[in-house]
Amino acid sequence: MKTLFDYLKEAEEKKVAVGHFNISDLVALKAIVNAAKELNVPIMIGTSEGERDFIGEHQAAALVKSLREEFNYPIFLNADHTHSLEKVKIAAQAGYDEILFDGGALPFEENVKQTKQAIEIAKSINPDVYIEGELGYIGSSSEIISEIPAGAAVQIAQLTTKEEAAQFVSETKVDFLAPAVGNLHGMLKDVPNPRLNIERIREIKGAVGIPLVLHGGSGTADDDFLAAIDAGVNVIHINTEIRLAWRKGIEAGLKADPDEIAPYKIFPPALEAVQAAVSARLKLFNKLVTLPSANNQ
Ligand SMILES: [Zn+2]
Repeated sequence: MKTLFDYLKEAEEKKVAVGHFNISDLVALKAIVNAAKELNVPIMIGTSEGERDFIGEHQAAALVKSLREEFNYPIFLNADHTHSLEKVKIAAQAGYDEILFDGGALPFEENVKQTKQAIEIAKSINPDVYIEGELGYIGSSSEIISEIPAGAAVQIAQLTTKEEAAQFVSETKVDFLAPAVGNLHGMLKDVPNPRLNIERIREIKGAVGIPLVLHGGSGTADDDFLAAIDAGVNVIHINTEIRLAWRKGIEAGLKADPDEIAPYKIFPPALEAVQAAVSARLKLFNKLVTLPSANNQ
């Protein structure tokens, strides 16, 4: 089977992006896989440290591997936002395909130093594991938020620059890069999330050449996504939107029959809601839909 890197290169050539969705449970995993298989597109599954603590690293890796092998399907697992070298080691040992070492909140030199250590540790365990580095702080919570998190890079002066990106990539040798380009983790409660800086994405891509990952996709405008892909983004992360769909679906499932206690009879509305949310995003990222505003004039 082709590697994750092969799929990202293919996405780049086709000017599409691979969707990355986080899970805490089997309901979301099934929903994401159903949506991807229906559209026949490669897919990435993420588990943050909190999500991993709940599922178990080895269990998450076994689930994804079982799907890949049973259906011969391009599904890959990322250890999302890993902050400690100990957690890097555990993820590499468990068989994750990718590890995001997140030193985005650290001073630049410290981020470089720790990211290099993360690569050394991970690749000594599994030479084939991909390491993503993070530059710039974009908040840390995939929830509905009432304001922009303190310290998050949203002003142009705080965004990742092409010079920083080039230096970071050449010093660390990361496989993929997650820059701060106006994206934000979480979804703002009453207003749309900030717009992406497309020009900055294009500059960074030109300076580093490696796959770029856009975090905090939830709440981003559809046309920003398409412009970001054309400017060089190859992977897009969505979490908050599917957590919201999951929650509404669970509530609907419980309400449908207050006496029901069989989990597999309560879960289907959650599965359907997450699947619909993932499907909509995958259609957009893989350009299987045309936006009304993008119609030919
Ligand atoms: Zn993220």
